[in-house]
Amino acid sequence: MTPVSAETNSTLDATKAPVYARADAPLEKIALEIYVPPAKPSLVGLSRAEVAERLGAIGVAPAQRKMRVQQLWHWIYVRGAKNFDEMTSISREMRAQLDQHFTVARPEVVAEQVSNDGTRKWLLRLPSGDANEKAHEVECVYIPETDRGTLCVSSQVGCTLNCSFCHTGTQRLVRNLTAGEIVGQVMVARDRLNDWADRVTPTGSRLVTNVVMMGMGEPLYNFDAVRDALLIVADNEGIGISRRRITLSTSGVVPNIIRTGDEIGVMLAVSLHAVRDELRNELVPLNRKYPIAELLQACRDYPGSSNARRITFEYVMLKGVNDSLDDAKLLVKMLKGIPAKINLIPFNPWPGTRYECSDWDQIEKFSEYIFNAGYSSPVRTPRGRDILAACGQLKSETEKLSVRERQALRAMAMTD
Ligand code: SAH
Ligand code: SF4
Repeated sequence: MTPVSAETNSTLDATKAPVYARADAPLEKIALEIYVPPAKPSLVGLSRAEVAERLGAIGVAPAQRKMRVQQLWHWIYVRGAKNFDEMTSISREMRAQLDQHFTVARPEVVAEQVSNDGTRKWLLRLPSGDANEKAHEVECVYIPETDRGTLCVSSQVGCTLNCSFCHTGTQRLVRNLTAGEIVGQVMVARDRLNDWADRVTPTGSRLVTNVVMMGMGEPLYNFDAVRDALLIVADNEGIGISRRRITLSTSGVVPNIIRTGDEIGVMLAVSLHAVRDELRNELVPLNRKYPIAELLQACRDYPGSSNARRITFEYVMLKGVNDSLDDAKLLVKMLKGIPAKINLIPFNPWPGTRYECSDWDQIEKFSEYIFNAGYSSPVRTPRGRDILAACGQLKSETEKLSVRERQALRAMAMTD
């Protein structure tokens, strides 16, 4: 099976010069379409209507379905039940019948790393759908802060886009995650942190309070699954993380930005990274399809944005590339009229990259300029830690989090 076109493959060797940054480099790889559900599918990630339909298919009487759906929903998303046996309010026979046909499985955790500051990174294994092919892997990161705990969730294995500074973009294999695999990441975090609603915590509050779609993949290229998953994550009879505490980051898939506001209603983050089309074409090649002016117009039109619900603009700090004061000036100018926050992200280097992170001095100068222009960050310290932000450098390999990665991930938890 060839997951990506041969033409695109040749652009993905990170040890060679990054030819994918060329003006004529292919815009996108092709995602693997095949998804073979397991013989016994999981109910995780299905809407209530879909669960009712599945129950109908195994002979549950129409009059019973609504009640059964409610029971299952509660056990799966409030209590975090891992099997039907735990669901004691459901009759034994019904549980046996459910178990015959379904599971409540989530992605399998193959590695867990816990850093000194409590940041946790899980490597998750997903079925490849092909016995001859290696299982697919994605990462999910939990970043605890004093007033919140943020979970960074992936939407795809790899990414079809080729942003020249992003390690995920160099991954060859790309497949969309199912809604169940996306919700499943939140469930895995709750499992591992012992964070389900019926478990006692010192403050009575949950550990996972915020979700950011900033892991692997472009969420707006997997729109339906991301929408279905986030609606379940936000459902207040279940996991119950409010839409205001969920942020979706996109590299700028313009047609789906408005849909995100209309159909999901979560907070939006936009990976801007450059203020001129010429440079953005190189950093975020998708810009050739949806240039800056169109992207900003979609942001102006974003349903539900206001000064209280600002759009986050992510800006990766690349030494000598996009970090001049002129860039900062233009950035401030172009965001005029948009309820915006700016998140400066220190570049996270990876093997084979040609970019470097901007010098700290320059990050501070840049940050000071935008601060003086009225863009503040929620946490500010004299050393300028306030401007650290999302990292997004996820890749499917087990390795220790570097200090910089940890700092960037911690700062990502401060996005709102
Ligand atoms: N695909 C989406 C979401 C995932 S990436 C997007 O691009 O928005 C999350 C964030 O991390 C994005 O802003 C992305 O541009 C940024 N990022 C990617 N690689 C990075 C790196 N090596 N260093 C710092 N930030 C990076
Ligand atoms: Fe994909 Fe986002 Fe990385 Fe670009 S920055 S390659 S869109 S994950």
